[in-house]
Amino acid sequence: MCGLSLEADKTFVLLAGTDGMDCTYCGCAVEAHDPVYLSTEPDGEPTSQFCNYGCLSAHIETAELTTGTACNWSPAE
Ligand SMILES: [Zn+2]
Repeated sequence: MCGLSLEADKTFVLLAGTDGMDCTYCGCAVEAHDPVYLSTEPDGEPTSQFCNYGCLSAHIETAELTTGTACNWSPAE
């Protein structure tokens, strides 16, 4: 089941993002912490960003991204 992910569903962790972005979870300026940037493209613009893995983890729980059929999760749903 987990092996059936579509190319379009992939999420990449970027090594660097754009300064001045606010954390998707808590709204703080991410560069003040240890930022994590996510994108749907390996070299793309960040689609979401977090202060650190703690905010990313909290966002995942709040958004219930691991609930149900997480392997089939799509941003369109
Ligand atoms: Zn944050």
